[in-house]
Amino acid sequence: MSKVFNFCAGPAMLPTAVMAKAQQEFVNWQDTGCSVMELSHRSDIYIAMAKKAEADLRELMSIPDNYQVLFCHGGGRGQFSAVPLNLLPQGKSADYIVSGSWSKAAAVEAKNFGDINTININQDNDISLSLLASSDWPLNPDAAYVHYCPNETVNGLEINTIPETHGVPLVADMSSTILSHEVDVSKFALIYAGAQKNIGPSGLTIVIIREDLLGHAQIATPCIMNYKTSADHNSMYNTPPTYAWYLAGLVFQWLKELGGVKAMAKVNKVKAELLYQAIDKSDFYLNHIESQYRSKMNIPFWLKDDSLNDKFLSESEAAGLMALEGHRMVGGMRASIYNAMPLAGVQALVAFMAKFEQENK
Ligand code: PMP
Repeated sequence: MSKVFNFCAGPAMLPTAVMAKAQQEFVNWQDTGCSVMELSHRSDIYIAMAKKAEADLRELMSIPDNYQVLFCHGGGRGQFSAVPLNLLPQGKSADYIVSGSWSKAAAVEAKNFGDINTININQDNDISLSLLASSDWPLNPDAAYVHYCPNETVNGLEINTIPETHGVPLVADMSSTILSHEVDVSKFALIYAGAQKNIGPSGLTIVIIREDLLGHAQIATPCIMNYKTSADHNSMYNTPPTYAWYLAGLVFQWLKELGGVKAMAKVNKVKAELLYQAIDKSDFYLNHIESQYRSKMNIPFWLKDDSLNDKFLSESEAAGLMALEGHRMVGGMRASIYNAMPLAGVQALVAFMAKFEQENK
């Protein structure tokens, strides 16, 4: 059993049951006499595992048949390049909604590959941080696609309704929210997510793409970033991240055993509410984000007296609560509470926060 609760934003904690299973079959997988990471990705036994992982993900997210699921390299940032390379033809522009640091980084990268229209939707005032409602986004009806990030990992901002783009393909960076609640995949042209938060270890990136968007890549697209090439070769044009794929498969099985995404969403709501209540009821801790835009996965909070930050971090770590330091861009603290974080972890954090407040105010 893990001795700490790990609140890292990613790579994040994995379910203990998954780690235990991986450990148990680490050196002898399915009686092959070797580790799954030592097997050819072209072997029948590996391909069967890979297909099962994809089928489980399709079931968990109810992915329609006219979508391809790709298991890629390159992380979220790899997709910052791959999306425009594959979806932005010459002579067209793409709309990039900027709600925080990751959507901004996606827009900056995309500018290397075409005409990008950046739309900043942050609405900051002295009291709270809010976002422009998606119905008021000034979208270009002729855009090749609209890109947005439903959950900003650094800023703790969530857009929890799917924007209406009136037929313009919608692309979402779901790196820090995928599988945390139910999503109607058919509303999206493309969804991508780095694995290292809610899926498995780093090194794997999931792309879910509607089939009609394949085959329009810019000429200069590197073959390993070309979605069509990847789809045509079942994500095995080059050697895929085989061990990460296997671990993702174990996470998908674990999710199914727990009742799937719907069941997970219920627990995630309870966890987030518990932590926000603890922050809001004290004037020792702060979170200024308007409630409807508060993330359920990444919860930043600030100590009113930031000279106590180091003390908070060293004492929380000593109490077995790991990696609570906020991202360097925003400071303060951040608790990332993805699917693998049990309710007990959030309860332990809330109890620690109350004790720390008592002793330091
Ligand atoms: N998008 C989001 C929303 C993220 O949280 C991150 C990483 N934390 C990235 C993109 C970048 O992912 P990677 O480091 O895998 O390139």
